[in-house]
Amino acid sequence: MTRAKEGTGYQAFDAPLLAQYQERRRIEQDLELALGKRQFELHYQPLVDVNQGRILGAEALLRWHHPRLGLMLPGRFIELAERSGQIETIGRWVLETALYQLHLWQRRWPALQMHVNVSVKQLLSGELYDICWAQLNRYRVKPGTLVLEITETTLLEDIQLVTKLCDQLGELGIVLAIDDFGTGYSSMRYLKQLPVNKLKIDRSFIADLESSPESQQLVPAIIAMGKALGLSITAEGVENEYQRQFLAALDCDEAQGFLFSKAVLPQTLETLLEAEIDLLPASRSSA
Ligand code: C2E
Ligand code: MG
Ligand code: MG
Ligand code: MG
Repeated sequence: MTRAKEGTGYQAFDAPLLAQYQERRRIEQDLELALGKRQFELHYQPLVDVNQGRILGAEALLRWHHPRLGLMLPGRFIELAERSGQIETIGRWVLETALYQLHLWQRRWPALQMHVNVSVKQLLSGELYDICWAQLNRYRVKPGTLVLEITETTLLEDIQLVTKLCDQLGELGIVLAIDDFGTGYSSMRYLKQLPVNKLKIDRSFIADLESSPESQQLVPAIIAMGKALGLSITAEGVENEYQRQFLAALDCDEAQGFLFSKAVLPQTLETLLEAEIDLLPASRSSA
């Protein structure tokens, strides 16, 4: 922190903060051009069944090849895009791209599911329904194979409206998932009211399974509660065999995490699907 000399009329002048601000402004400006310059790419992370490691679907995760800053993960730009409103255009591209990819893959793997993250901004804009309707008609993917993920914390912003919009998406045969479950404060009542089909347990609960007695209690409780509500359960961020076995002993339907695979390019996922590889370290080494 550098402070201007007394009497010059300046208050505190925070150089690092200013640099940070300028960097954000630049990223915001670059973001506006990114789509046109084809700098975005989707990577796909497999979702597998906890027991065999068989691939059931994939989650589309956005990547930005920034000309100056290199590969950017969504944590560095999604919030900016949400604040500037650009998330709607970017989100539309994500949906179209993922559905086209799913259309191609379902020719060979008809039951494959595609998970797409949507910002609550997209949902509340009212356009999401029209976009989904148009793209689902265009690509004719199997009903029930498009899963839209919405994070728990944002889902509760306007519960009445969100419920209505989710109901409409459900009528299109779209599956709805609550992402990062456990980081928000959903009450049982909301969970019962919302027309969601799937819970994704936030990876923070999985990360400390081995060390935290609380998580060892909470994860089974979340799964039991989700099951009681008729929801399918996915565990995020499974990184080791201890965590997988813990989940396999419970009624957890699906898992996702670096133990199985990180998000990969479409060709790589195809190779995994073609080889019918079960993404378990054990089955991989014995294959
Ligand atoms: P998410 O939807 O909860 O996605 C899972 C994130 O966890 C991904 O990070 C993924 O790479 C990471 N991950 C998966 N397995 C593991 C693991 O075993 N260990 C650890 N440490 N991490 C794991 P990523 O790709 O950086 O995405 C971050 C978040 O950005 C996503 O969280 C999602 O909320 C958001 N996001 C990604 N793509 C999009 C998009 O197209 N639209 C919108 N609105 N948001 C997106
Ligand atoms: Mg997600
Ligand atoms: Mg998540
Ligand atoms: Mg997350």
